Amino acid sequence: MATTTSTPATGAAPAPKYPDQVTGMDILVRALRMVGIDTMYGLVGIPVTEVAYIAQMQGMRFVGFRHEQQAGMAAATHGYLTHTPGVLLTVSSLGFLNGLTATTNATVNCYPMIQISGSSEREPIDLLQGTYEGLDQLSIAKPLVKAAYRVNRPEDIPTAVVRAYRAAISGRPGGVYLDVTTPTLGAIMDATEADKLFYSPVDLCPAMPPAPEAVKRAAELIATARKPAFIFGKGAAYARVEDRLKALVDKTGIPYFPMSMAKGILPDDGPLSALSCRSTIMEESDVVVLVGARLNWLLSRGKGKWSADTKFVQLDIDPEEIDINRPVAAPVVGDLASSLDALIAALPDKMAMDASWVPSLQAQTKEKNARFAQRLEANAAASPMNHWTALNAIKPVLEANPDVILVNEGANTLDDTRDTINMSRPRHRIDCATWAIMGMGMGSCVGAAVSTGKSVVAVEGDSAFGFSGMDFSTICRFKLPVTVVIFNNGGIYNGIGVNPSGGSDPAPTTLDVNARYDKLGEAFGAKSYYVTTPSELSEALAEAIASKAPAMIDVQLGADSGKESGHIGYLNPAPLEDFTV
Ligand code: ADP
Ligand code: MG
Repeated sequence: MATTTSTPATGAAPAPKYPDQVTGMDILVRALRMVGIDTMYGLVGIPVTEVAYIAQMQGMRFVGFRHEQQAGMAAATHGYLTHTPGVLLTVSSLGFLNGLTATTNATVNCYPMIQISGSSEREPIDLLQGTYEGLDQLSIAKPLVKAAYRVNRPEDIPTAVVRAYRAAISGRPGGVYLDVTTPTLGAIMDATEADKLFYSPVDLCPAMPPAPEAVKRAAELIATARKPAFIFGKGAAYARVEDRLKALVDKTGIPYFPMSMAKGILPDDGPLSALSCRSTIMEESDVVVLVGARLNWLLSRGKGKWSADTKFVQLDIDPEEIDINRPVAAPVVGDLASSLDALIAALPDKMAMDASWVPSLQAQTKEKNARFAQRLEANAAASPMNHWTALNAIKPVLEANPDVILVNEGANTLDDTRDTINMSRPRHRIDCATWAIMGMGMGSCVGAAVSTGKSVVAVEGDSAFGFSGMDFSTICRFKLPVTVVIFNNGGIYNGIGVNPSGGSDPAPTTLDVNARYDKLGEAFGAKSYYVTTPSELSEALAEAIASKAPAMIDVQLGADSGKESGHIGYLNPAPLEDFTV
């Protein structure tokens, strides 16, 4: 099949062979650029290699990975941090499936992204005749993503791209799948005819203001509450409404609790931060205002500790989110920017809040913080280090570099880092999020560094790192300012699991406490450190951040540091006999 461009073997841009003709691949790249896509993450091979070359030739950045799942995590992070869809490019069959994991995760987390996958020709797939990388990709993707489309003709590509973009970003954002068949990619069109297909779509992410009566109902409930609280979720971080939240908190004096990735949307240590008062809010608040946060398992689905009398106000873009677990007394459905503007305007200057509510939360915060500091202090010099020793060493360095984006995954490493490291800026914490999945690390680092130009530090459990470790090499090839800190306790949860059969195979949770992850860093040319003491750790981290270059820090912990499943051990199906000790 003739194409107008061919893959340059030497890196030199080839001259078009047929200047008055274009291929589906040219049209695809141009359509993406028309909607403002400037970066693509992916992993090439048949049939999409040339798409990536054309993208580079046309001035788009192509970030090539070692595993599609990580390229997808990067695209999702790009989408979350920029409020525009991140784009993932995958090959057919396995590449598609590997990437789909990330696109599905993006859908669960409300991150806008588009997975574009090449697919083999339809006819032998539909008749099960056996073809190269044959798989009915569209049918597989459909139930797992927000929307899925297939393009079968080059002239449909611009429309398909605009539809995919709108589906990814409008309403509740999510992952979109766009299937482009090999014949469509290779199809040739007359360039003048192709020119006529392109258009600049108007208002790609329209505002969706709430109904005035919904705003009035919410404002009345908030204004008359005795012990109100805000809960900010990552929907609010994504929506970039921190200025409005500040205005809302300033106007009402109501305290706020941030969900994990909303940490820093207003300062974690601000006077009205109720970060340490989650249980008290659940037990005592009469009115709780959910702002871009879901009342899902991360908030006990409104059950458990929650008072049966708590009334909920919920600001969300998705009407189907309302009432999913508890009745919501005042739903405000709309985009957060519009909803918050309307709510701030509708609220009176005087609130009915109890005069003792905020001081009691502040007193509690002070007491809990003091206890937390004592715990860090008590572990500060432990040898070998445990999670708290390491975090006590990291805390001042990260807090002195507030513009560094923190990527965080693991079990104990996730829970303890979230509890220890205060955030002071919005969208500076990226973690396992709603699905609580492992394996988002290296991809998220790349997406964060590429899409913002900022420095990134990943704090990773050794097990969590394993899922994406090879893509540390992507950080190195692209020379990104990313430091990966690995808490090596030699296992999933910890490294002291015992094989109950008495056999010599390692226990299911056991990895390698003596593994030298710093050597992995060296293999790809990163500045690498192996640290065994808190002072070595804080010095290495400060130096690595200052270098603005790829760095790897292997933090040697004791194998006994960490407990089964971290904070969520209660989710195990039966009380585990403790094989790990
Ligand atoms: P968290 O895990 O931090 O609680 P979730 O991901 O569970 O956050 O919830 C985010 C919520 O934010 C989702 O219900 C989503 O529909 C909503 N959301 C996302 N973007 C917007 C927006 N622009 N305006 C309003 N709500 C939004
Ligand atoms: Mg571990």
